[in-house]
Amino acid sequence: MHARITMGNVTMQTLEASHLRRWMMLCAAAMTQQHEYLTQLDAAIGDADHGTNMMRGFSSIESRLEGLPATARPSEVLLMAGTALMGSVGGASGPLWGVALRRAGKVLEGLEQVSLEAFAGALKLGLEAVTELGAAELGEKTMVDALEPAVRALLEAAARGDDLAEAFAAAHQAAEAGARNTAPMVARKGRASYLGDRAIGHQDPGAVSTVFIFAAFERAWLEA
Ligand SMILES: [Mg+2]
Repeated sequence: MHARITMGNVTMQTLEASHLRRWMMLCAAAMTQQHEYLTQLDAAIGDADHGTNMMRGFSSIESRLEGLPATARPSEVLLMAGTALMGSVGGASGPLWGVALRRAGKVLEGLEQVSLEAFAGALKLGLEAVTELGAAELGEKTMVDALEPAVRALLEAAARGDDLAEAFAAAHQAAEAGARNTAPMVARKGRASYLGDRAIGHQDPGAVSTVFIFAAFERAWLEA
């Protein structure tokens, strides 16, 4: 059942901790299923560890979810997930997602139900944490190229008053388009940047795993 909150005479769909738990489970399943593909992408322009890293990170979240009390709030799910990613994953994308989820979790502290507007705002702060820590900007062939358009799509959906299914579908599509756009880019960050023009033609693995994370988010909502 999708929860709703009523403000004045407006009723809004909201996210709850159960949705975020399901999101993390679906991320873990996707990373396990796709780890070889992600590693292939990373082998082309990096050090061939992205699939293993993301699988290890989200498996660690999955195993810690059981230990989280049933009464845990959305913020607690995100904080736990971020901490698990930061503590279990090498490479860059895992810890960066860890920081993003922790930053988003902090902003949502105390809330039982989260509106689309609040969630989009929290992810925006998560994105800012990623760009600060990774010193990455749009167009540098990184996860930011998928994450930024996805967050923007959520913010725009919130501003339009879209329902959550539309909003998450838009975010997923924006992430996918963003990841595709990394193929013709020259990398400016990480090992891929040493390749110069030879990185052209390959999608950034961190951008592609970001697509899986938003795809899982959409699915988690549809299955609720
Ligand atoms: Mg790597």
